[in-house]
Amino acid sequence: MTCPRIDVDLRKIRENTRTIVDRLNVRGIQVTAVTKATCGHPAIARAMVDGGAEGLAEARLSHVRRLREAGVACPITLIRTPMLSQVDDVVQVCEASYNTEMTVITALAAAALRQKTVHGIILMVEMGDQREGILPRHVVGMAQRVVAMSGVQLKGIGANFACLSGIAPTAAKIQALSDLANEVEGQCGPFLQTVSGGNSANLTMALNGSPTGRINDLRIGEAILLGVDPVTGGQIGGLYRDAFTLVAEVIETDAKSLGPLVGRTDPPLGKIHLVSDTTGTIRLIFAIGHRDTDATGLTMPPDHTFVGATSDHLIIGTKDPTLCVGSEMRFQMNYSALMRAMAAPDTQLTIRNDRPVSDPRDAQDPSTHLALV
Ligand SMILES: *Cc1c(COP(=O)(O)O)cnc(C)c1O
Repeated sequence: MTCPRIDVDLRKIRENTRTIVDRLNVRGIQVTAVTKATCGHPAIARAMVDGGAEGLAEARLSHVRRLREAGVACPITLIRTPMLSQVDDVVQVCEASYNTEMTVITALAAAALRQKTVHGIILMVEMGDQREGILPRHVVGMAQRVVAMSGVQLKGIGANFACLSGIAPTAAKIQALSDLANEVEGQCGPFLQTVSGGNSANLTMALNGSPTGRINDLRIGEAILLGVDPVTGGQIGGLYRDAFTLVAEVIETDAKSLGPLVGRTDPPLGKIHLVSDTTGTIRLIFAIGHRDTDATGLTMPPDHTFVGATSDHLIIGTKDPTLCVGSEMRFQMNYSALMRAMAAPDTQLTIRNDRPVSDPRDAQDPSTHLALV
């Protein structure tokens, strides 16, 4: 089979979604599944919907178009505040968008009126992550302006945590967002359909019994795709970590000493990780590099060591003499490695279990097919 490729097990994505949906539903929270790390891959998005996600969220319009062109018809929300230059397309392909700028909302409203439709607005509140968001004290005023505008409908408010800052949400922040939801409703009238409390970083809190206040939606990507809590990097109990596997091929193998690299002060070499005991270590060179993935975000099989990577090569040390030119090796990816690999032009996808069955646990469909990423 071609390399590099990503083996995707859709059954694991469906089951991860189902597990998270079931655990959150009992707390009154729905799941909006985030497809951005997969570049809006339609089969993966469908697996998330089959697993019980209420709708999809994307950061890029190109990914939303890909989903729509493949016939994905469920509600899609744009979670990155729209570019002013794209408002017409946003209104055309997305039911709603997250917004922080009045100029953009006004343009969305005008675009919606031209298209004789109504576009949903969720106001993104800055709660400490310091990426996007309206300062809490400005939210009510903005909500009032949105409510008064035709072409748009105020659907809710949301917040984001742990993306730029890496700081997980706290009970106090969730309370503050809930209070703000009540205040917006008190001042503006309409009931807020959505109070979206955050992303995968919120899961630990939402699942350990902490108060969730008015939060009735979470936007979940990483936890569904990789089964991990992005703040700690630890596995979330009951979720698969291996729905995605990156496969690369060996193009050179030798027993070259790794010695000459030691002690070089050349800055680019400063990043190279050396295997501690190089005796008997074989160097494997793989036809994959920084262009294809985040090589530092790969998990090797046991007894293999990351030596370094360049744009097109990955070098690994091993004492396993059975690996030869043409051998394949399988790697688990972190979020950054997955995101880059899914967008890499030379990587193919092998989709497994591409069919919902009545009981996903019985799914043993071995059918696979190749598709360009
Ligand atoms: C990427 C993103 C998410 C999803 O984050 P995960 O950590 O993958 O769950 C949610 N909300 C916003 C605004 C995002 O940009």
